[in-house]
Amino acid sequence: MGRRLESKCKQCRREGEKLYLKGDRCFTPKCAVTRRPFKPGMHGPTSRTRPTPYGIQLREKQKAKNTYGLMEKQFRNYFEKATRKVGNTGSFLVQMLELRLDNVVFRAGLTKSRASARQLVGHGSVRVNGKKVNIPSFQVKPGDVISLSASIAKSKLFADDAERLAKYQAPTWIHLEAAAKSAKVTSKPEGDELKQNFDPKLIVEFYSR
Ligand code: SF4
Repeated sequence: MGRRLESKCKQCRREGEKLYLKGDRCFTPKCAVTRRPFKPGMHGPTSRTRPTPYGIQLREKQKAKNTYGLMEKQFRNYFEKATRKVGNTGSFLVQMLELRLDNVVFRAGLTKSRASARQLVGHGSVRVNGKKVNIPSFQVKPGDVISLSASIAKSKLFADDAERLAKYQAPTWIHLEAAAKSAKVTSKPEGDELKQNFDPKLIVEFYSR
């Protein structure tokens, strides 16, 4: 399994925008995009390069890949699967990414970042319809109920989080039961629910060169 070497904050700075990869810190003045709003590296502060169409497509792909915390091969596999479906490849791509178990845990507000959601899933602390699932890439289906293991739900970490969770606004395709620390996926995300900080059309163009 490959490892990502570039720090999360550098990934944001390279894209020139917040990707919200670190939970709470992303909303504070400590955010690296706020403190150092230029590309990382020696020439970052003075860089004036004009992106080519290829460069723009590449950045959109990298932005999406980094947002979901995936390696190139995993991301490419999602694209390949999306191309095998009949319809809008970009929408299928985003839909599959959104329905990853780690993403659903994050979107439901059960964790503050996708990275901590992935860790929670990997450690076997997440249940799908009452059964332990420790595969972050597991595809969640409409009707599935996501919950936390009893021990983790009762832990200090989550007990302190009850107030935040009670106020949290989950996306329309997820029904959050804040008190029970569980969430039901009511439907697949469609249309506007698939809107992201990247343009899937440019990603399709990138891989279709
Ligand atoms: Fe990105 Fe969050 Fe780091 Fe800011 S604090 S640069 S949003 S990961």
